[in-house]
Amino acid sequence: MYMGFTIAQLLLLSLISDSMKTEFDAILAKKIFSKDDIVALLSTTDENDVGKLFEKSCSVKKEYVGSEVYLRGLLEFSNVCRKNCFYCGIRSDNKQIHRYSIPDEEIKEIVLHAWKNNYGSMVFQSGERNDAVFIEHVIDILKYSKKITNNEIGITLSCGEQSEKTYQKLFDSGAHRYLLRIETSNEALYYKIHPENETHSFKARIEALRNLKKTGFQTGTGIMIGLPFQTIEDLADDLLFFKKNDIDMVGMGPYIEHKETPMYKYRKLLMPKTERFNLTLRMIAVLRIMMKDINIAASTALQAIDNEGRVKGLKAGANVIMPNLTPSAYIEDYFLYDNKPCLHENIGKYFKLLESSIHDAGDTIAYKKWGDSKHFFTRTSAR
Ligand code: SF4
Repeated sequence: MYMGFTIAQLLLLSLISDSMKTEFDAILAKKIFSKDDIVALLSTTDENDVGKLFEKSCSVKKEYVGSEVYLRGLLEFSNVCRKNCFYCGIRSDNKQIHRYSIPDEEIKEIVLHAWKNNYGSMVFQSGERNDAVFIEHVIDILKYSKKITNNEIGITLSCGEQSEKTYQKLFDSGAHRYLLRIETSNEALYYKIHPENETHSFKARIEALRNLKKTGFQTGTGIMIGLPFQTIEDLADDLLFFKKNDIDMVGMGPYIEHKETPMYKYRKLLMPKTERFNLTLRMIAVLRIMMKDINIAASTALQAIDNEGRVKGLKAGANVIMPNLTPSAYIEDYFLYDNKPCLHENIGKYFKLLESSIHDAGDTIAYKKWGDSKHFFTRTSAR
């Protein structure tokens, strides 16, 4: 007898506990997840199982990338875009917004602010343009940003699809990471959320990702979660797509609708925002377990749904945060989706709040570090 239980009762309890180590535990213990496994992990809403999933993703994160959070100061330097993605608030057909390009002197001030405040890296993001004037402008931004920070600032670019030659020029001018979201790896769904024409070609996007890797960029991509017509199987395929393409960095956010876009008409088909949010956290957790040493961003879109969104993303397995350093005069003209949070984290007191919530999550900020993707240095696919 032990604590009042007979041996028979103890055996029964152990059988019950074994049967409670359900399929979910068995899947979680696997070294490699099949598509069905991923679907099962993503589909669970059982609190206990979700807890186990996050426990595992956090321990993988700690073991493989540590508990340092890499900071990237995000600067949305222009909202001029030649494209017309159906979900995006700054698509070229949206005439309701004021178009801007931040003057160089202001860009320099922001870069200096980031550098003096110990940011290791910047992300320069814009709408997509591929004309020579724009490319030369981006090259200038890269060169002067390096120069005024003694080459210390690390640079990620997010300026859409470009030719291989242009990627090479951008790389040679000082950028070493590039984000190009695929948005969905399902070609049929891709054409439900983009016009089907030469400017929005799925194949060209895949090719651009390949060229980024070939050029030598640490290559990032990502998707939206909770799109109309998207299934849980699509999301499982997205995670397998990242793995198959040996991606170095991933940013995934819940899809949030924007009034001035064609996709707004499907808003009634969407799952509630909290479900999109929770599913995004599970996606982060499963991805961390599948791709242990990549960088995963806790996206701003998480924060648009939950005040603690990014920190919850870190707790699920993310390790990158991108405080928005875009000046307030421009920030409201870069609304890719409605209710985008304008957090003004370039202001000291707001940054302190972010810093303390990161500490509360058990992580620390890696100041003055580029925070490169560890995966980049070990992967064997194209460099
Ligand atoms: S998602 Fe990017 S490429 Fe598409 S319209 Fe928006 S800014 Fe332009």
